[in-house]
Amino acid sequence: MKVNIIPENCIACGLCYLHAPDVFDYHDNGIVKFNNSDKLEKEYISDDKIISAAKACPTAAIKITKS
Ligand code: SF4
Repeated sequence: MKVNIIPENCIACGLCYLHAPDVFDYHDNGIVKFNNSDKLEKEYISDDKIISAAKACPTAAIKITKS
C-alpha cells in the first residue's frame, strides 16, 4: 500500500507515532515525517498499525492508497 503524509495538514498531536512508532517520526517542530526519510510518499506492505495511525489522525494528514 502507498502511504502519503501531508505535513501542511499536521497539527503535531503525536497520535500517529503512538500507533506506528516504527513508521512515523517528527521534525523538531513536531510535524510528521517518515522514520528515516524526508519523502512524503512511501510504499509499505499492508500494515494494521499504519492503517490505525491514519484513522486516528484528526486532520487526515496520513493518506493510504491500497495498491
Ligand atoms: S496523527 Fe496526524 S496530526 Fe497528529 S502528528 Fe500524526 S500526522 Fe500529525
